[in-house]
Amino acid sequence: MSNNGHTKTIEHILEKVHAGERISYEEGLLLYEQAELLDLAEAANARRQQINPGDVVSYLIDRNINYTNVCVTDCQFCNFYTPRSTDAKAYVNSKEVLGRKIEEARQLGATRILMQGGHNPDLPFEYYTDLVGWIHRTFPQIEIDAFSPSEIEFMANISGKSWEEVLTELKAVGLAGLPGGGGEILDDEIRNLVSPKKIKTANWLGVMKVAHRLDLTTTATMVIGFTETPRHRMNHFQRLRDTQDDSLAIGSRGFNAFISWTVQIENTPLGRSKRRDLFGATPQEYLRHTVMARIFLDNIPHLSASWPTQGAKVGQVALHFGCDDFGSTMIEENVVSAAGAPTKVSPMMTVHEIHRQIREAGFVPAQRNTRYEIMREYRDGDEDLPPEKVVEAENVIPLAVLN
Ligand code: SF4
Repeated sequence: MSNNGHTKTIEHILEKVHAGERISYEEGLLLYEQAELLDLAEAANARRQQINPGDVVSYLIDRNINYTNVCVTDCQFCNFYTPRSTDAKAYVNSKEVLGRKIEEARQLGATRILMQGGHNPDLPFEYYTDLVGWIHRTFPQIEIDAFSPSEIEFMANISGKSWEEVLTELKAVGLAGLPGGGGEILDDEIRNLVSPKKIKTANWLGVMKVAHRLDLTTTATMVIGFTETPRHRMNHFQRLRDTQDDSLAIGSRGFNAFISWTVQIENTPLGRSKRRDLFGATPQEYLRHTVMARIFLDNIPHLSASWPTQGAKVGQVALHFGCDDFGSTMIEENVVSAAGAPTKVSPMMTVHEIHRQIREAGFVPAQRNTRYEIMREYRDGDEDLPPEKVVEAENVIPLAVLN
């Protein structure tokens, strides 16, 4: 097709988006590869307004916590694990340490914890049910989102249980939902290059489908910058959209939100490789990816901006590129930070800082829960916010994992 022909086709596809229609894989690919970024942003904002009308941007108060850094999966982009429990830096956090972290988060107004860890072969399945049950009994007001699909698959493998049995037993003791981690690129061609031992695409989606059937809260994630092409990225989008269609068809809520970020490779095997310059993605690529996600994933209600890898300014721009959520306070995050994210060590934003960022970008901040239900909208100002507090640095353990 001539350039002129492509331009007309792109205009037509963008009109479909503005009219609230679904676009096909090939239409999405054409937009991804050839449309002007600002035209895409306009269309993504139209999609945002069709799905989440208004000027509210939500956020969550929570804390990211890691229970172990021992992992046998050797992902090429990971600098957070150690392969043996006998290594000097290996840890399995005690209930005392975890309890202290949760209590600190509770005092800062957190409504949930997000807990993940490595694939630690020394921990039996009972460790997880005992831990979740203990947290739930000790902190009944805190929602527990824990264990990405790769950890669930690992638990199933070590226990001989099915994914459904693992998730049912965890839910019975207090698990509220699963983080969407470990998705990276949902295309095995890329997964086999950078994380060959990690959960494959079909199983990641399969675990999430079971979680949806069991009414566990879930999100979908994506990491870009592994040398994947727009076609690989569109494959990821298409697989998520299909999975979401299936889950919605059975009356499940499916994925509540989608969030993507760019791979951070400092201090990782990818960062030490001769091909290191090939990895990573620019803020412009991140923004193009974000608008394409909003346009294509028309059945996933919310889209979060990623400030930990992009910095607050790009996060603010993302709010004008289709995102309606600013993520969470995190309080503690040691994964992308240890691999070189702009936020470096344990990135966090206080609630005050999140409000400042959202207001500066021209939106109204609102606290939400994990199901993205608005708990409090701050349309008239921040007078009622509690005083600004941060967690003492010594209580943030600077090692963690990404799953
Ligand atoms: S990303 Fe997760 S699964 Fe991969 S090596 Fe790191 S801790 Fe293990």
